[in-house]
Amino acid sequence: MDTAPQPPLPGATQDCPADSPAYQTLAVQTGIPRGLGQTVGVPIHAAAGFQFETLEQAQSEFQVNGGLSYARIQNPTVRALEERLTALEGGAATVALASGQAATLTAVMSVCRAGDHIVSSSSVFGGTAGLLNNILPLMGITATLVDNTPDAVRAALQPNTRLVWAEIIGNPAGDVPDLEALAEVAHAHGALLGVDATWAGAGYLCRPLEFGADIVTHSLTKWAGGHGSVMGGSVTVGTRHDLSRNPIFTEGGAQSLLNVRGDGALAWRQRWFGANQCGMTLAPHSAFLIAQGLETLQLRLDRECASALALAQWLQAQPQVARVSYPGLPGSAHHALAARYLPRGAGAVLTFEVADPAAFLSRLKLLRIVPNLGDSRTLVVHPWTTTHGRLPEAARRAAGVTPETIRMSVGIEALADLQADLSQALA
Ligand SMILES: *Cc1c(COP(=O)(O)O)cnc(C)c1O
Repeated sequence: MDTAPQPPLPGATQDCPADSPAYQTLAVQTGIPRGLGQTVGVPIHAAAGFQFETLEQAQSEFQVNGGLSYARIQNPTVRALEERLTALEGGAATVALASGQAATLTAVMSVCRAGDHIVSSSSVFGGTAGLLNNILPLMGITATLVDNTPDAVRAALQPNTRLVWAEIIGNPAGDVPDLEALAEVAHAHGALLGVDATWAGAGYLCRPLEFGADIVTHSLTKWAGGHGSVMGGSVTVGTRHDLSRNPIFTEGGAQSLLNVRGDGALAWRQRWFGANQCGMTLAPHSAFLIAQGLETLQLRLDRECASALALAQWLQAQPQVARVSYPGLPGSAHHALAARYLPRGAGAVLTFEVADPAAFLSRLKLLRIVPNLGDSRTLVVHPWTTTHGRLPEAARRAAGVTPETIRMSVGIEALADLQADLSQALA
């Protein structure tokens, strides 16, 4: 066998040398058993319940949280997707759920209960702001939304703060938080850092757990699914979180969650809440589509990030465009943090301002007006009236949205065609 070191392949510089196996390999190889007659992709298990041969088997599967008994709790297709996501994020465990909203709610409810408090970046997805401002208060959990700088977050901490929350790239402001600094602030307070890393594409552009985050969530509807054809969400926990100052995990003496579940306590609570008890379960057909989408996410995002940067630079030079925001632009206020946390590319989303958004949007022929992200096609929206339309005006402006803002999620079409359509719509 030839054991001489192999010369690097073209493009291999994009691999993080510490990754072994690399992301690109894990994305297509994880979660698929080897063996005679096994499917090569992740098989779909269409089932509501699973068979036992003996009472002992039934008892033991029921005792494992996430055993194969009833499909609200676990399904082999969903489990294969969870294994893949855990590997891609470098985490300890993942629960896959029905949507990104289900994932955010589960992440919060895994470490908070009535009387607890969250400090969140104000530059978050509209649905996240809705949960924090409108839904969680119904359950006695309050949130303070601030700029995502470490100083602002520190100043907003309360004795009952259990969770600090941020998005790796804010929607749609394009701001990038200093993850290591936020983790330090949260941990010094005995709280955890949760990061919605949807825009970083399932660990490809950034793995927040490596920078001190404790919980990573995704809307799998976006880049993971990747084709605008499926909804899903996920919560992944890392290996190093400290729960010793959160009473949810410590009260109860010998019977406390930490004593009974040990290092797996947080992952246990997430599956128990999101899947077992609240039933926000991912369907096996959806899990299949998402697992398949993950296999090409790397290729799509390489191209989308390159096209997004090229279009951002081109738009900056157009006289009809007032302001272009993309964290990968050298002139962006977020460029330094993007270079540090998103070395492979600053994501596929950019915003720009035009004087008359309605006229601009109506002239587009190729680009589609769709309130979604991470599709293989390029999608545009007017956040002021749609995705962020329910927020008060000040909150919309704080999230980087103005009446003139267009948000564009760049797809994998030929760059020249995208540029031509934008050009004729601007003219
Ligand atoms: C879309 C999105 C969500 C919500 O996900 P759904 O799958 O639509 O429920 C959460 N966070 C971010 C950053 C998103 O883009």
